[in-house]
Amino acid sequence: MNQPLQTATPARQGDRLELVGLRRAFGAYNALDGIDLTIEPGEFIALLGPSGCGKSTALNCVAGLLGLTGGEIRLGGRRIDELEPERRGFGMVFQSYALFPHMTVRKNVGFGLAMRGVKGPEADRRIDEALNLVRLGSQAEKLPGQLSGGQQQRVAIARAVVIRPPVVLMDEPLSNLDAKLRLEMRAEIRGIHDQIGSTTIYVTHDQDEALSLADRIVVMSQGRILQIGTPEDLYQRPVHAEVADFMGFRTRLAGRVVAVNGEEATIETAGARLSGIAREALEPGDAAILSVRPEDLVAVEDGEGIAATVSSMEYRGRAFFGMAHASDGSELFFRADRHLSRGAAARLQPVEGRALVFRGAAP
Ligand code: ATP
Repeated sequence: MNQPLQTATPARQGDRLELVGLRRAFGAYNALDGIDLTIEPGEFIALLGPSGCGKSTALNCVAGLLGLTGGEIRLGGRRIDELEPERRGFGMVFQSYALFPHMTVRKNVGFGLAMRGVKGPEADRRIDEALNLVRLGSQAEKLPGQLSGGQQQRVAIARAVVIRPPVVLMDEPLSNLDAKLRLEMRAEIRGIHDQIGSTTIYVTHDQDEALSLADRIVVMSQGRILQIGTPEDLYQRPVHAEVADFMGFRTRLAGRVVAVNGEEATIETAGARLSGIAREALEPGDAAILSVRPEDLVAVEDGEGIAATVSSMEYRGRAFFGMAHASDGSELFFRADRHLSRGAAARLQPVEGRALVFRGAAP
């Protein structure tokens, strides 16, 4: 057997992970453009953002699979960004599972231990512990191909955590699973995190996944961080129109501020005046975006609101939800208490205090 791998960063719980001015360029393109993030020991952090925003690049830089072109990564105050991935001692879980197909579940899970020179009864004990953690104790002698997708992903998780890593990195681990299994595995992943106490960084483009799993969510766009906050913070108090978009404020209307009254701003858009809570300092004349969730933009019989033409409508149990277009072509996602036909004229009004107004022009 090869010499056991000595990690320069022994798997210690309780180390703070710091990303300082992280940069990664591919040619002239900055995939990471100055990421600053401090992660406390044991925290569950979700990196959330649209495709191409740099989430996987950030994760791969932390793992050591990609080098940095600027900045530093520190664990417990020590620089680790120049260490090989194996020497960082982090556990990794990928979307594709990445299991060895010719090895049994037990061998797959034990691989990292063998590399570290952990053998015999101690290795067996830790493998059993990891398999029991992911509820696969009875499948240890099977090959990955004999398991379902969900079970294979659980093997990958057991393999990542068996080395007792200080940090577990997960890149969209649930996206190959069907919707029902995704929900089950979500709860399991959080449960495993809570039991092992490692820090977890979890990459996803799924807002629900981030909200339900993470202690803090980091919303990224174009290689930068837009906002860091608890799920409640982001859901209720997004600081940026793009973050609001990610948090379900699907309607985004661009216009000009015509009045500011305390924390409320009124904008004129597509011939209507609509009000919301100003999330930034605004003055009359500023270009602004009003963002509102479908459940908070309601079809009203009369009164003010934005005139729109209904494009589609569906019944979702308690209410009807629809899409409509304003005269300037803006898309509106709204709620109604009755069915409206395609092509019907509707008047849509944000519920008081539920729309948000941000500075900025239409994208
Ligand atoms: P997704 O959810 O689609 O995986 P992401 O947010 O994880 O997206 P990254 O994979 O980190 O995005 O990619 C960020 C940007 O960097 C993208 O524009 C991508 O095209 C670019 N990029 C990533 N890897 C490379 C590479 N090896 N060479 C060149 N460009 C790359």
